This record gives sequence, C-alpha cells and structure tokens, in this order.
Amino acid sequence: MSREHFFDVAIVGGGISGTSLLYTLARYTNIAKVALFEKCDEIASLNSNAKSNSQTLHAGDIETNYSLKKALKVKKSADMLENYARRHGYENKSIFNFPKMVIAVGNEVPYMKSRYKEFKEHYPYLKFWDKERLEELEPKLVEGRESDIVAMGSTEQFCAMDFGKISESFVENAKKQECDVEVCLQEEVYSIKERGNAYQLLTAKGIYFAHYVVVDAGSHSLLLANDMGYGMEYSTLPVGGSFYYAKKQFINSKVYTIQNPKLPFAAVHADPDIIHDNITRFGPTALALPKLERYKGADFIDFMKTLNPDKAVFDVFYDLITDGDIREYMIKNMMYEIPVIRNGLFAKEVQKIIPTLGADDIEYADGIGGLRPQVIDKINKRLLLGEAKIDTKKGLVFNMTPSPGATSC
Ligand SMILES: Cc1cc2nc3c(=O)[nH]c(=O)nc-3n(C[C@H](O)[C@H](O)[C@H](O)COP(=O)(O)OP(=O)(O)OC[C@H]3O[C@@H](n4cnc5c(N)ncnc54)[C@H](O)[C@@H]3O)c2cc1C
Repeated sequence: MSREHFFDVAIVGGGISGTSLLYTLARYTNIAKVALFEKCDEIASLNSNAKSNSQTLHAGDIETNYSLKKALKVKKSADMLENYARRHGYENKSIFNFPKMVIAVGNEVPYMKSRYKEFKEHYPYLKFWDKERLEELEPKLVEGRESDIVAMGSTEQFCAMDFGKISESFVENAKKQECDVEVCLQEEVYSIKERGNAYQLLTAKGIYFAHYVVVDAGSHSLLLANDMGYGMEYSTLPVGGSFYYAKKQFINSKVYTIQNPKLPFAAVHADPDIIHDNITRFGPTALALPKLERYKGADFIDFMKTLNPDKAVFDVFYDLITDGDIREYMIKNMMYEIPVIRNGLFAKEVQKIIPTLGADDIEYADGIGGLRPQVIDKINKRLLLGEAKIDTKKGLVFNMTPSPGATSC
C-alpha cells in the first residue's frame, strides 16, 4: 500500500458540509493527513452553490417552521459561520447584511405577537413592526393590502451567504494549515469497505485507505451507507426547489411568511438575490423528483435504491397524500413547473408577500434551484424535516443534509 494513499480522515463530498469539516480538521485538530473526494470538477457545484439554495444564513429568528429549541440550535451554527466569514473579511463578498423579517397577515397577527414575546429574549435585536412602520420600511408589502400586517425582524444582521464561495474558501484556508490536505476533484467514490482497522475507498482513479471516513455526499450519502448495510431504517425523498425572479426590484429585505404547521416544507419567501444585483428571488417550490441530482442526467436506479420502497415508505406517502392540505400543496407545487400556467399561479402565492404582484412581474428561473434529500424515518413512519446522521460508531459517519443543511454544516 503506497503511503500517499493512506489518510487519517477521508471526506466524501465537496459541498459545504464536506469542506467545512475539512477546514475544521485542518485548522483545529492535530490530525496529520486529510483527503476530500469530490466527483465533480469543482467544489460546491450542486446544492451548496448559490444558484441552488435560498442563500439564507438561518438564525432561526424569522423561520416559523422552527421551534425555539431548533431555532437556537441553528443559530449556534449560523453564528459560527458568520464569525468565520467576518474574521476572513468576506463581508459583501460571501456574507451579506440585508433587512430580514417574517410577516403575519390577518388572523396570523396574534400568533406573531406571542412568537415575538417568546423569541425577543433570545434574539435581543428583534423588532416588532406594525403596518405603518412596514409601509416606511418596505412599501410594497403594504400597497394594495386590505388586511392587517405586522412583522418581526431586524435591519442589521448578516443573513445571506454564498455557501458555494464559502465552501471554496474552506478548501483554500484548509490548505494553508499545517495539516497535509489533499483535494481530489473529479474523483467519485464508488464504494467504501472495511479493511481491518481502516476503510478502503474505491474511486474513479484509484484505491485509498483512511482510518476515519465521513460521507457528506448529499443525496448520495444514503446510497453509500446502504451499500455497506447501514441506514436501512431511512429512505430519502428528493424534493426539488425552483425559484422565480422578479423582473424589477420590489423589496430590499428577506421576507419570510408564517409556516402552515401541516405543510412539510418551508413556505415561499422573498430574498434579494446575491448573485444578481437588485433582483428579488421568490421560492423555493417543493416538487418530489425521481432523481438524486436536479440538473444532471437521470439516475432512476440510484433514486429507487435510496427510496428503498416498502410498507413503511408507502404508509408515509399515504399519510401525506390523504391529508387534504398537503395534497393541495403538492398539486400546486407541480403546477408551478408547467409553462404557460405557472407564472399566474405562482404570482397568486407570492401575493401574500406583495399583494400587487402580477404574473407579468415574474419569470421562472431556469436552471436555478437544487434538490433536498428529505429523510424518511421508516421506524417511526415519518418524514423528517431537517438533517439526519448515520453514525456507525466505528469511525464512519454518513450525513444527510436537506435545509438548513448549509447553515448547520
Ligand atoms: C431549494 C433549496 C433551498 C435551500 N435553502 C437553504 C438556505 O437558505 N439555507 C440553508 O442553510 N440551506 C438551504 N438549503 C439546503 C442546503 O443547500 C444543503 O443542505 C447544503 O447545500 C448541503 O450541503 P452538502 O455539502 O451536504 O451537500 P451538497 O452541496 O449536495 O454536496 C454534496 C457533494 O458530494 C458530491 N458527491 C456525491 N456523491 C459523491 C461520491 N460518491 N463521491 C464523491 N463525491 C460525491 C457531490 O458532487 C456534491 O458536490 C436549500 C436547499 C435547496 C435545494
């Protein structure tokens, strides 16, 4: 066995999860040799790329789909990423400061008042804005609106991040440390096998060994785990998320809406796009797709392997489909992909945020939006909404990372 091919730790996947681990190990431990394997020819070209996700550094303050406990957990990660980015001087390059808020409309107003009370103590910078104040801050939220509207938010927090650029910076900064860091691009890991007290990784270009392996391969993590007999209690349902661009600038803030607790994915929001100046992005939609990567060729067999259909998966689907609200939500999200009708339908959805927005004000963002590998817990027969980890306790870990997976990297 050649020495060059032996590593202390091997990381599979060069998105934000894999690269942040690479940096953390190189910068904060005395581990001598780490390798990162990425099958594409660039770092973070899939879900961690700014084109694929909502670019939100989730602090938990405006995401009403999070409980306070979940919000504080994600805030811890967001703070770490913010500290990293600011310490390296990435302000306005990879981390951005926009006003942000969550709005409540009509009968949602009392809920917002009580949530503000609960969250204010933990997020002292949060402000509560009534209709009058909102009209000054973001006139388009109020224009043409008959019902009451309030919001809680802030004007001075870093809340947007280019997770793709941050991933690249993690690699660059890892290479500056004393640790011997090897980044192997265009090197897909086909299999991982236990070999004595190490693991053998077979890639497109050779065979490698490592004492510890962490798989951060997005939708492919479960595929690799299942190949080794791990994670059979999980299944993944890949859910694509598309976006629409506004043709002109409507608002300057990130604007989230109150989550319907029955719906399995975050409600549509509005975000200033960080890759195009002065453009608002609306989304994401939520569309279950039979593939593991959004804009890559079909991989139906791999999809079926990670879906791993059996009675438990069928029961989860049955529960989702027989709930009227969820069924309507799924059908609507399918229709948001159909040319000709989609602009009009999606504009109606966004009118909760901007009442005067019409079908002609938006266009479908072609090629934008990634895929969330939503995890199904087959034992408890439920769709999990966040990340999941398979820790074999034998120096081998598999991470599955739907939203807010970039923030919690
Ligand atoms: C529409 C949408 C909106 C989102 N919005 C947000 C948001 O606002 N904020 C947030 O925090 N999160 C958000 N997320 C989630 C976030 O994008 C992901 O959780 C995060 O990017 C996952 O990073 P990752 O590194 O785990 O996976 P990925 O970025 O998917 O990277 C996995 C990498 O592994 C590589 N790979 C796969 N198989 C192999 C193999 N066998 N060998 C070698 N390499 C392999 C892939 O090529 C890829 O580069 C959103 C996701 C979507 C789809």
